[in-house]
Amino acid sequence: MKNRGSCKTLRREKSPFWGILRLCGLFTSFTCSAFRRSAGPSPCFRSLACPLGQATVGTVRTGFACPRKMPQNHRFFAVVAFCNCLKSLLLFFLLFLPLICVEAGVKKERRVSTVASAVKGLGLVPTIVIDAGHGGLNLGAHVRQPFCEEKRITLLTALYMRKYLNQLGYRVIMTRSTDAFVPLPRRVEIANKARADLFVSIHYNSSRSPSAQGVEVFFSEDSDDRNRIASSRKLASSILTRVVRRTKAPSRGVKKANFLVIRETNMPSVLVEGGFISNPQERGFLKDPQYLEKIARGVVEGIDHYFQR
Ligand SMILES: [Zn+2]
Repeated sequence: MKNRGSCKTLRREKSPFWGILRLCGLFTSFTCSAFRRSAGPSPCFRSLACPLGQATVGTVRTGFACPRKMPQNHRFFAVVAFCNCLKSLLLFFLLFLPLICVEAGVKKERRVSTVASAVKGLGLVPTIVIDAGHGGLNLGAHVRQPFCEEKRITLLTALYMRKYLNQLGYRVIMTRSTDAFVPLPRRVEIANKARADLFVSIHYNSSRSPSAQGVEVFFSEDSDDRNRIASSRKLASSILTRVVRRTKAPSRGVKKANFLVIRETNMPSVLVEGGFISNPQERGFLKDPQYLEKIARGVVEGIDHYFQR
């Protein structure tokens, strides 16, 4: 009661500043009260905090007596402002830190395929035709002991590719998604009718030399469309680099070939030979689905990089 004079001084002020100050005082007085209960009275802290408590004592009781008059000086307002800033910062981090973390995660996710996203923004989602080689009665390269068939590992690789391309936002068309035989002209027809942006055929190799190993990517130069040839070469190089990076397999380079599926298609087209079934060591890798997943990831990264350039 003996500090009522100083409180009246505060209540006379009608400006919004004093309203804000009273709110700050309320917050700080609660803080002081808690501090006093836990740590005991501190003369320094009390001398600064009590007037704030008394400033609101007209409507809210702070629960402890103040032995001194309010020192109305700059130090007092600086402490009020400092307390308020601390409160604001604490609230900011509590409320917005989770949002910032989520946003950062989303940005990281977006970085995986920035160009695909940009193309999607224009309503131009690239269409990729994935051609899993062979199928049905056409086994492709194969060995009986131990059992390994090209048609099976091309299909598994193609299915992994579809998954990763879909994750990046590409539209995917498969020439086959089951163990079915599809004639080569039909594969070309599927790609040309869809007006696809890229055609990627997946195969695995075989050689009379059991030591032959590694990855190679073919494109065709048998076309009047110089842009298509250049784009096919660029795509082949991009895919080879990333498959080799993923698998650590030897690179056999980008090569020219006249295979029907990469010659007759109208869009940039490549044929990937992901490894040699005839090489015992590489065949061991190719029978591991995790290794095929690495090849698929490499091919997809190569496709995505092609669109980013
Ligand atoms: Zn093949």
